[in-house]
Amino acid sequence: MVTAKRLLTSFFRSGWMEEPVKKKVIVGAIVGCLVLAAGITYVTRSPAGGIPKSFAKELTWVKCRNPECEAEYQVTKKEYFQYQEEHYDPRLAGAPPMVCQQCGAESVYRAVKCEKCGLVFEMGTIPGDYNDRCPKCRYSKLETEKKPGAASSGG
Ligand SMILES: [Zn+2]
Ligand SMILES: [Zn+2]
Repeated sequence: MVTAKRLLTSFFRSGWMEEPVKKKVIVGAIVGCLVLAAGITYVTRSPAGGIPKSFAKELTWVKCRNPECEAEYQVTKKEYFQYQEEHYDPRLAGAPPMVCQQCGAESVYRAVKCEKCGLVFEMGTIPGDYNDRCPKCRYSKLETEKKPGAASSGG
């Protein structure tokens, strides 16, 4: 089989193998990087679900829906989101309510404190609007942040 041998030799000499081999090396390197990145992401993830470590220091407002209680207080975001993860119920339309520190009922929902008038209200009070829209003075921090140059109030 002289022909086959000659063909092979000529292939190697012509250097046609070079490109695919280079590509393989590059693809290999990319895959390697991806695997490494995924590994790092996995390792650095906190053990309690996908809650960032910084949430242990960040506070969020919550409010009790019980009309006889209406407690308003702050919990750490970690506490809030961890509760959400643990009590997630697909049958519920919204977030699962937390147990109220004051009245003990499962009627505490995430709230926002208005920067303008200081009112603490449940997030998403006004449907179809920004979920931090204040029902009292209509201020929304999210809206203000979205508008460029909104800092200069035109009265
Ligand atoms: Zn309460
Ligand atoms: Zn307000």
